Amino acid sequence: MSEAVMGRCLCGSVRYQCEGELGPANYCHCEDCRKCTGSAFNVGVRVEARQFRIVKGSPRAFTKTGESGNSLTRHFCPDCGSPLYTTSPVHPDVLFVKAGCIDQPELVHPTHQTWMKSMVPWAAIPPGLTGFPKGRS
Ligand SMILES: [Zn+2]
Ligand SMILES: [Zn+2]
Repeated sequence: MSEAVMGRCLCGSVRYQCEGELGPANYCHCEDCRKCTGSAFNVGVRVEARQFRIVKGSPRAFTKTGESGNSLTRHFCPDCGSPLYTTSPVHPDVLFVKAGCIDQPELVHPTHQTWMKSMVPWAAIPPGLTGFPKGRS
């Protein structure tokens, strides 16, 4: 049996565990994901609901009907606000964990991207953009 995948929010109030392999990850460029993450896109990792459990804390949830017409519930830490995962009543057997809150980021494998029609020009980092090993000093 493979080692459990662990994840947590920024403050550590909420922790979760995924048993078994993570599913494929996708980049979502939709406007709701941009608003929710505060970034150019979301990276969601597909996990079977039966593999997933909260081991610490109680996430809060916010439900909204997306542009697709499906309602999505976004679960986040009530203390620090970190987005953690998304569920949908249309697919109760799966959930999509935010890749950035997984403690073993090397296990995330993006396979596709969705909502390209809503993609912002700054979603892709141009090769050769000025970079610094740490913060800009
Ligand atoms: Zn937190
Ligand atoms: Zn999205």
